[in-house]
Amino acid sequence: MNCPKCATDLVKKYYKGMIEVDSCPSCRGMWLDTPELDRLEDVAFDDDAHKGSLVHFQSKTNYPCPHCGDNLDEFQYRLYDLKLDYCAINDHGFWLDAEEDERVLTLMRHRAGEIQRKLDVESAWKQTLKEMHSFLRKK
Ligand SMILES: [Zn+2]
Ligand SMILES: [Zn+2]
Repeated sequence: MNCPKCATDLVKKYYKGMIEVDSCPSCRGMWLDTPELDRLEDVAFDDDAHKGSLVHFQSKTNYPCPHCGDNLDEFQYRLYDLKLDYCAINDHGFWLDAEEDERVLTLMRHRAGEIQRKLDVESAWKQTLKEMHSFLRKK
């Protein structure tokens, strides 16, 4: 599989001890496969923590899905101002650019501090990935 952004060979990596991803050694982005996303465990969450976490359709990109080569669609996840590229045609998974995940984790750490809730940052991120995926799949 090749990186949709720079065409470098993707390397398998175990991301934060929770999911296997294909990461790009060159631009440091990563691809998350749909079957891997489905394997994430469900984490119980307050509904209000995710109110307004809508995904907006944005546009078609010129980046190819590493699985099927069809162009990825770009979406925006509003809650974290996160952009992601998604294989909308065949539901193969989605792509995160370098450091986008770290940005989200940082935001989650702030939230956890603000609301004084015992919130596991990695669990929150897992939940977010799952949510994004189930939302996109309904489209
Ligand atoms: Zn790359
Ligand atoms: Zn695809």
